[in-house]
Amino acid sequence: MLDRLCMTVPDYPKPGITFKDLTPVFADAQGLRAIVDAIVRPFAGQFDLVAGIEARGFLLAAAAAYATGTGVLTVRKAGKLPRETFTEEYALEYGSAALEVHTTDIPAGARVLVLDDVLATGGTVGAAVRLVNRSGGSVVGIGVVLELVGLGGRKALAGERVHSLQQLHD
Ligand code: AMP
Repeated sequence: MLDRLCMTVPDYPKPGITFKDLTPVFADAQGLRAIVDAIVRPFAGQFDLVAGIEARGFLLAAAAAYATGTGVLTVRKAGKLPRETFTEEYALEYGSAALEVHTTDIPAGARVLVLDDVLATGGTVGAAVRLVNRSGGSVVGIGVVLELVGLGGRKALAGERVHSLQQLHD
């Protein structure tokens, strides 16, 4: 299903980057259900809150939270949230950026599952993990649809449980 629906876009958004476009997977009724069910499966019953990273992670997190009767947390790009925030900077495969959560969004001791579409260098998910920890929550695991193995994200997230639905080795 992922092989059939995921689109590969060479040299986007910059020359040398091979972009994995999952929008056709999200748009497919069976595809969406399959990835959401599979991404939460190893963590079933172990989390109270699903954190989705802006923007594609929001789609996964909202669907996963609804399906599992948990809450959803939006981990946003810098400058989008209206109240006091924690901020964590990170390096991206193509550039650098920062993520934020409200300081009061995560209940103390909440067990948080962090979701995103693609794991590349791990910088983005790493920043989200630090935000959860700074907020007083605990990260039970990380779920991604695609893992670009050569970029070393899993190593960068050493100590965390990382679950990817498909590993790409090129
Ligand atoms: P990284 O921080 O390097 O692990 O990059 C992961 C983040 O950037 C995720 O939010 C992805 O959506 C996005 N991303 C990085 N590389 C790619 C890629 N080759 N294809 C699609 N999305 C990517």
